[in-house]
Amino acid sequence: MAQHHVIIGGGPAATNALETIRIFDSEAKITLVCDEPAHSRMALPYWLSGSIPPEQTHTGDAAHFKKLGVETRFGLRVANIDANGHSVSLSDGSSLSYDNLLIATGSSPLAPPIPGTDLPGVQPLWSLAHTQELLDGTSGNERPRVVLVGAGFIGLIVLNAMFKRGWDLTVVERESQVLPRMLDGESAGIVQNWMASKSVAVHTSTSVKSISTGGGGEKLVQLENGNQIAADVVIIATGIKANLDLIDGTGIDSDEGILVNAQMLSSVPNIYAAGDVAQGPVMFSDQRSVHAIQPTAVDHGRVAGANMVGQDVHYPGSLLMNVVDVCGLQTVSYGAWDDASAEATTISNPINSIYRKLLWHDDSLVGAIFTGRADDLGMLTDIGMVKGFLQTQTKLGAWKRYLMENAFDVRRAYIGAGVAQKLVQTTLLGSATRDRKYHFQGAEPKAIMGASHAQFVGTKPK
Ligand SMILES: Cc1cc2nc3c(=O)[nH]c(=O)nc-3n(C[C@H](O)[C@H](O)[C@H](O)COP(=O)(O)OP(=O)(O)OC[C@H]3O[C@@H](n4cnc5c(N)ncnc54)[C@H](O)[C@@H]3O)c2cc1C
Repeated sequence: MAQHHVIIGGGPAATNALETIRIFDSEAKITLVCDEPAHSRMALPYWLSGSIPPEQTHTGDAAHFKKLGVETRFGLRVANIDANGHSVSLSDGSSLSYDNLLIATGSSPLAPPIPGTDLPGVQPLWSLAHTQELLDGTSGNERPRVVLVGAGFIGLIVLNAMFKRGWDLTVVERESQVLPRMLDGESAGIVQNWMASKSVAVHTSTSVKSISTGGGGEKLVQLENGNQIAADVVIIATGIKANLDLIDGTGIDSDEGILVNAQMLSSVPNIYAAGDVAQGPVMFSDQRSVHAIQPTAVDHGRVAGANMVGQDVHYPGSLLMNVVDVCGLQTVSYGAWDDASAEATTISNPINSIYRKLLWHDDSLVGAIFTGRADDLGMLTDIGMVKGFLQTQTKLGAWKRYLMENAFDVRRAYIGAGVAQKLVQTTLLGSATRDRKYHFQGAEPKAIMGASHAQFVGTKPK
């Protein structure tokens, strides 16, 4: 009899899992349960900045799931998992029994204990609804004043979208630098100077004490250092946590996320986890970690889906890769970027906002930090090639010295050390990835081209 796979979630981990199941098994019954439509959160900033229409954040419509033979329960939550009984109960009172269960419930923004975060106009930017709320709340306002609380990876991605709209931006970060879990102090200094040059006000080493409403309905953001900032909108981006509430009482082991092995299997047979909610194998470490980024969610989903239908696929581990365009300055950290035991090659040119740090164990790269102008095509291809060094874990031999002496000639080492050939041969599921194409209301994915796109690929901005 055909197996029944129940998948909780509709983000990249869930959709990649079900599409992978279908590659290997055309008979299996698949049910997808998600309280939101199937979409990609990382596309939300593109909608916010006006680069894509909202429908392009969606990853599949009813016709797509029907074609895949997937039964969908959108708008519903899984309320409880009965791991012994192999069933889940849904928020409408119904239940589903499963042979295999995938938990791909993602993560949620943390709510800091700041008085005033419940006021209208104070919000996170994590979901479709949040994006609509921000666009509605600022419509008709030519240049809304925004205070962003938290200068982490997601916060600065959202900042960049608002920067593209020409909004008046202030950032508050309680640590002594921006991107504290992504950059060392020197590169963060370059990013902060760049932000200042783009008229983004940055307050570090202070936190928000309270938010209140002023006379004209504006928000008054009171800082611990005594400053007060008036704003139309306050965006809270002070971190995220894995959505673990469902596993209470199931016996599933967890730490910061659901602990999974290299097959994405949890400590309970037949229950898998993938994406932001999963704490899995990582490159350059024996520890398991939560890597709350899209590429990890995609890989996790594909590995989980394959194993749910009996393929024996082992995940080599996720590579931490944080890439964010901060108001036109490309800012990147990979892998063990903060490994104090690694040998480091550093080039710093603050006048030109250029920073390159390569971290080595013997002759292998284990991490890197880059800053450089987002319209510098050479820098962008270099960060792609350095990612290739890390993903293939290539031993560079004599090319290590070459790179240490010529950190701006990455291409020669990339070709010489055979990284391109290795990458071409690397597959997660044993065959080349197929383009999943676009599956929402027959729409074509038309990006609204910016100036840098025009520069790189020669098309004119619309
Ligand atoms: C604004 C923003 C920008 C980002 N930009 C980037 C970027 O540039 N690069 C990058 O790598 N990453 C980025 N990310 C992070 C990336 O989007 C996440 O890592 C990714 O979405 C995780 O995928 P997932 O499938 O694990 O979870 P999610 O995408 O969060 O999907 C989980 C889904 O499950 C639903 N759900 C939860 N609990 C239940 C339940 N009990 N019952 C039913 N449904 C449930 C949730 O509502 C959600 O719809 C960004 C995130 C945000 C918010």
